[in-house]
Amino acid sequence: MECVTARNFAAMTVSFGSSLRLRRKKFVRKRASFSGYGYWYRSGNLRVEARAGSESCVAVDENFADEEDYIKAGGSELVFVQMQQNKSMEKQSKLADKLKPISIGDDILDLVVIGCGPAGLSLAAESAKLGLKVGLIGPDLPFTNNYGVWEDEFKGLGLEGCIEHVWQDTIVYLDDKDPILIGRAYGRVSRHLLHEELLRRCVESGVSYLSSRVERIVEASNGSNVACEDDITVPCRLATVASGAASGKLLEYEVGGPKVSVQTAYGVEVEVENIPYDPNLMVFMDYRDYLEQNVPSLEAHYPTFLYVMPMSPTRVFFEEWSYIPVGGSLPNTGQKNLAFGAAASMVHPATGYSVVRSLSEAPKYASVIASILKGGHSWDILTRERSNKNLSTKAWDTLWPQERKRQRAFFLFGLALILELDIEGIRTFFRTFFRLPDCFLTPMFLMENSGRKSSALADWD
Ligand SMILES: Cc1cc2nc3c(=O)[nH]c(=O)nc-3n(C[C@H](O)[C@H](O)[C@H](O)COP(=O)(O)OP(=O)(O)OC[C@H]3O[C@@H](n4cnc5c(N)ncnc54)[C@H](O)[C@@H]3O)c2cc1C
Repeated sequence: MECVTARNFAAMTVSFGSSLRLRRKKFVRKRASFSGYGYWYRSGNLRVEARAGSESCVAVDENFADEEDYIKAGGSELVFVQMQQNKSMEKQSKLADKLKPISIGDDILDLVVIGCGPAGLSLAAESAKLGLKVGLIGPDLPFTNNYGVWEDEFKGLGLEGCIEHVWQDTIVYLDDKDPILIGRAYGRVSRHLLHEELLRRCVESGVSYLSSRVERIVEASNGSNVACEDDITVPCRLATVASGAASGKLLEYEVGGPKVSVQTAYGVEVEVENIPYDPNLMVFMDYRDYLEQNVPSLEAHYPTFLYVMPMSPTRVFFEEWSYIPVGGSLPNTGQKNLAFGAAASMVHPATGYSVVRSLSEAPKYASVIASILKGGHSWDILTRERSNKNLSTKAWDTLWPQERKRQRAFFLFGLALILELDIEGIRTFFRTFFRLPDCFLTPMFLMENSGRKSSALADWD
């Protein structure tokens, strides 16, 4: 069993105006001793204090492939990540009530998609639409996160019906002067409606389902055997892992790549007498100093920002508890099993967003998978060809072409830079950044499915 040492102890105090105060504790890794683990806090008026503390030992148990996988799963915050994932959402349907069960022992499935988050559901539906026999495997859990999206992007996906609240513009406050209007409408996704819509697409296209956790994927002569809990094995021609960021037990990741960082947030939705924000504007970032430096501010050392969705003149959503691994290595694109969503490192290194990218790329990725599986290959031919040239490479190259890898490297550079800046440095950075012309700004930061080559990045080649 590997031992992870946490050398720093950080206490966080989170305050929402003067009315609500939460206090939390957290272990933080020393960057020097852990070769680059960094933390960027996105939070409701978050104050973070780090001070030297005693060494402690956190065990990486058998549920995780390695230390990196453990960090992605939640690290020392694991219990809170699990609480977030297991929140009760009574309105959302159970997958098992609507999808037919995978019938084990019958014909082999063409594709097994592992994980029932937005990425897994959308890929399963799109693949089955193309005539593949698709099985979806994962715990029957609801969507618990509050997703935020640029309205135009969700409209482009035909999902505008899943947005429960739209703000006609989005605003950034960096200091008391000149807030910046981004000029783009922002929406809060109804997790209930999104779950229902993606499930409806799965039902319509004939996806079958097994409620279970996958333990491993074993190579077989005619494809793969997906080994689940309770000794259930599901054979398939191809397996795609969409089981979220901590998928190290099912996938290989590049060795020696960038270390993962984590974006954390704390928040609540509250009813107040009067909110100090315009209900027509979504607050993408508020970096103002509410204490006006009357008292020494830890924000200077541990910068954080507020993300606010004013729901009405008296109801306001200040982020929510979240833990989003960002950066880290790419999956090894030479492996046979495929991946999608956060498992495939599709989370934007700077913003933590991935949902729109997964939903928008699912149709194209599904069609590449279908072309591999339908390419006139009998299972034996497929196996033989696999040993010569990995057919999965075509799908991996669709997800992570060279250009996209370069783009990600640039985003990682941005992440590393932000992690180094103090509050004033961050203000200066974003003051410049948000005033860049659209042709730079949109592909670099504001648009998560920016597979297109931006002129900024073209210049960078
Ligand atoms: C509070 C919060 C707010 C967020 N807000 C946004 C946002 O506004 N926009 C955005 O784009 N992103 C946001 N994110 C990031 C977001 O979670 C992820 O980007 C997104 O959910 C990833 O989708 P996914 O389908 O790839 O993985 P997940 O949503 O993590 O789904 C993975 C699924 O796989 C299942 N699973 C895990 N292990 C196994 C296994 N061994 N076998 C089978 N199934 C397994 C899990 O139960 C889960 O259902 C937010 C995250 C949090 C926590």
